[in-house]
Amino acid sequence: MSGLRIASCTACGHRWQFRRAACPACASQSVTEVTAGGKGTIWSVTTVLRAPLPELDVPGGYGIALVTLDEGPRIMCRAETGLAIGDRVAIGCDDDGLPRASRG
Ligand SMILES: [Zn+2]
Repeated sequence: MSGLRIASCTACGHRWQFRRAACPACASQSVTEVTAGGKGTIWSVTTVLRAPLPELDVPGGYGIALVTLDEGPRIMCRAETGLAIGDRVAIGCDDDGLPRASRG
């Protein structure tokens, strides 16, 4: 994914997913955004078999994962089914702009 933006503290280097006015690690207000490399490791993953919305009801269910990005932040995203904890993944983008983890 080329556009996955994460917040970064220019004082201590800590990185996190959602931008805040101050760094959660050191409280510095010197915060910027950087583009993540789009690679990470599965921290947790599940397959949702009972869809909450009709448009999400697909045969075999759909995957949801927590992925630890190589830069440090952990994000929740859609995932291809069959992934396991510890698998290396690439974070791509669905047609609707939401992130999706795929083997890679
Ligand atoms: Zn900081």
